[in-house]
Amino acid sequence: MTLAKCKRCGAIFQKVIERDLCPACLAKEEEEFQKVKEFFRRHPKARLEEVSEATGVEKKVILEFVKEGRLQVASEVQPVLELFCERCGRPILAGRLCEECRRKVAQLIQSGEKKKPSGPDFYFKDALKKKKEQG
Ligand SMILES: [Zn+2]
Ligand SMILES: [Zn+2]
Repeated sequence: MTLAKCKRCGAIFQKVIERDLCPACLAKEEEEFQKVKEFFRRHPKARLEEVSEATGVEKKVILEFVKEGRLQVASEVQPVLELFCERCGRPILAGRLCEECRRKVAQLIQSGEKKKPSGPDFYFKDALKKKKEQG
């Protein structure tokens, strides 16, 4: 049995699926998702603020839907959705990282796995140190 803390209301609940939401919040989120999806269907070029106001769903919740890849938005809408790569800040269509950063992160994780035991952060620092030592 896995217990998890709901990321919305903070309730402790038994985790049955890979979501950090309690059943109550999950149901609410699903309702919100349908609302947002329906709004985007009718207004494909709506701004994030407009969607948020019209549906009553928080902007960050809408962004979560896009980040999770559940909500598909037209590419021309993307810039107003304020979705950027968490690493380099480049505008992206879905997910959390741009293609390039995703590749870099994958490489970092791979090299980290080979060397062990620390995570990518360690190797990042290590690389910086080496750079300094070299001159
Ligand atoms: Zn909850
Ligand atoms: Zn990036």
